[in-house]
Amino acid sequence: MSIKTNILGYPRVGANRELKKAEEAYWAGKNSKQELLDTAALIRKGNWQLQKESGIDLIPSNDFSFYDQTLDLSLCVGAIPERYNNLKNDRLELYFAMAHGYQKDGIDVTAMEMTKWFDTNYHYIVPEFTRDQQFELTYNKAAAEFSEALALGIKTKPVLIGPITYLLLGKEKETGFNRIELLDRLLPAYIDILKQLEQLGAEYVQIDEPFLNTDITEQIKDAYRKAFARINESVKLKIVLTTYFDGLADNASLAAELNPAILHIDLARAPQSWKDVVRVLPKTASLSLGVVDGRNIWKNDFRQSLDIINKVKDVIGDERILIATSCSLLHSPFDLDNEKNEKTLPAEVKRWLAFARQKVTEVANLASLAGGKPDYFAKAALQSNVSDIEDRRTSKLTNNDEVKRRVAEVTPDFAKRKSSFRERIVEQHRELYLPLYPTTTIGSFPQTTDVRSWRSKFKKEEITKEQYTELLKGEIERTIRKQEEIGLDVLVHGESERNDMVEYFGEQLSGFAFTQNGWVQSYGSRCVKPPVIYGDVSRPNPMTVDWITYAQNLTDKPVKGMLTGPVTILQWSFVRNDQPRAVTMKQIALAIRDEVQDLEKAGIKVIQIDEPAIREGLPLRKADREEYLEKAVEAFRISASGVKDSTQIHTHMCYSQFNDIIKHIAAMDADVITIECARSQMNLLGAFADFKYPNEIGPGVYDIHSPRVPSVDEMVNLLRKAAQVISPAQLWVNPDCGLKTRGWAETEAALRNMVEAARIMRN
Ligand code: GLN
Ligand code: ZN
Repeated sequence: MSIKTNILGYPRVGANRELKKAEEAYWAGKNSKQELLDTAALIRKGNWQLQKESGIDLIPSNDFSFYDQTLDLSLCVGAIPERYNNLKNDRLELYFAMAHGYQKDGIDVTAMEMTKWFDTNYHYIVPEFTRDQQFELTYNKAAAEFSEALALGIKTKPVLIGPITYLLLGKEKETGFNRIELLDRLLPAYIDILKQLEQLGAEYVQIDEPFLNTDITEQIKDAYRKAFARINESVKLKIVLTTYFDGLADNASLAAELNPAILHIDLARAPQSWKDVVRVLPKTASLSLGVVDGRNIWKNDFRQSLDIINKVKDVIGDERILIATSCSLLHSPFDLDNEKNEKTLPAEVKRWLAFARQKVTEVANLASLAGGKPDYFAKAALQSNVSDIEDRRTSKLTNNDEVKRRVAEVTPDFAKRKSSFRERIVEQHRELYLPLYPTTTIGSFPQTTDVRSWRSKFKKEEITKEQYTELLKGEIERTIRKQEEIGLDVLVHGESERNDMVEYFGEQLSGFAFTQNGWVQSYGSRCVKPPVIYGDVSRPNPMTVDWITYAQNLTDKPVKGMLTGPVTILQWSFVRNDQPRAVTMKQIALAIRDEVQDLEKAGIKVIQIDEPAIREGLPLRKADREEYLEKAVEAFRISASGVKDSTQIHTHMCYSQFNDIIKHIAAMDADVITIECARSQMNLLGAFADFKYPNEIGPGVYDIHSPRVPSVDEMVNLLRKAAQVISPAQLWVNPDCGLKTRGWAETEAALRNMVEAARIMRN
């Protein structure tokens, strides 16, 4: 008996980010549309062939995208906002205009909004819906790619976002309706896509409905029933109903009712979730077991997976199971074989990893092993898998007894400042002598081409460490002088030594490794290369103290020490899966705590611990959120609480939706929090006002995402709005976020205006 295999999606940027390069060259007018289309076709072909050669049965198509799969579907079903009407004669131009705006030939239209895809760091383009929204099939991308693969001799399984998930991912652009009510209008266009696929000879189609793994209302459940009844009436395609990023839990019977040919579940995220499902799954349906984690880079533990697979087999038999990746491999880097630098990724650690390409082989081998008559390769793979997993479990690299002991000895006191905020703030004011409406920035100053070229020369060993340090010191001194001249109150050193706010710390902590090509798509052509946390984390040496004290010694004004917090470091890394995430987070928290204490010892009076990633880690299910937030808050507090009352702790977050988490934000008990606010005209401060947020707060008064210089009046107006809801004694004046991506000219002009605005407020 051979068990079938199912891959949910494959990375589309290419082994060497070919798609990114081709797109950026196309946008810059440096290569033709044809060149871009050719690159894309080559990537698709390579992906299909690779999966075919690995013996995969259900090979995805339409998992490719020039930007984002949600935007693809919006374009195909004609959900194109009116402002793009003048751009409709070139489909690709229209598509990119929707993705990132258009400013050419007298046309000036903004981009559609972008937001994070569930709890990942991938961003999708949010569909925009109006009350009288119409849908029609304008282009069948799924059919085009299915035909393209067929011409290569590969019959694929087209992948589509499901109709309900699609609507729920979107946003109502006007009031008076709920987007789920648009289902009746969406379905005909959606079903047209499926009908054409059927005519072309498709057998399977994967319909992604991850919202089935969230808390949904009765209205949404009814919408699910209606949508899938209509789909099943209209086509004979075998529907692979696909869920991921959590378990179905109480929605298991709903999923079963939708009558899929195959139901896919994520067993990497919710290993026990098959139990709810097998009880209700109709006899006609198969179960796709997502045992190979698509979100992480660890080698699959074959024995553990086979154990789960065998248990499911015992209940439903092996004819009805498929072996699969947990979710699309979009979230995995491309190919481990491209990693050649043993200095940053030790050979021993590399043995424990699997990227997308290796994961495809894992799926094939697991199916072969589970089928009972494994081939030679699968048997050999099992043997080496067992020894690699064992090596990882016992390796000296992963285990550091000293760190484990420290974590075990953490008492509740570690997460408590010595006194309450009321008492601390008195000490801090005495220490810092700040005026009302104190001004500061979020940390980074422009990363000029010069600064970046020094770093790259240093990495390539073209300049010595001493030379590099001298250059950076010069940059820090200029940055300090500039801030003094502008008249800011709390200064920063500017972060010119940092390439990235997580990588910089990861490189100095033990337990971290770095890949050369472990790129994962973040949005559009943008990729990130997350560090790999493979072992117990500790801080062998201070990481920022030299730079910050150098800056502090240049000036009489307070210089703010600048650190990245434990939640953000965890969230933006590939995290080890052999211990709970919360334990790893606590280890990082202790390392940051050490750094905070060393900064204090060195005479630094203000220390900022950035936590921009707290919100995106929120689990899909409401019931799991409380625990996540508690652990996150605890980790932050452990990192921040080892200091005297008079040392002022700041934190920063780059967003402003706090309504549902304000209680936990307050529980972080930072003396000062700076947040994004300018784009929402301070409206979002409401959550802080309603909650009577007790500590100090710096709502960003200008948007740093654009080179525009805001006027003094504009910022005064924003500050007046803020002062209506928050006591002036609590308010700070600062930009929305770091200034790293800006140029010096606009930065200087904007900050001068900001300082002037604060002066006006004081009078
Ligand atoms: N301190 C960081 C900076 O200014 C914060 C960046 C962020 O919030 N993403 O660049
Ligand atoms: Zn920010």
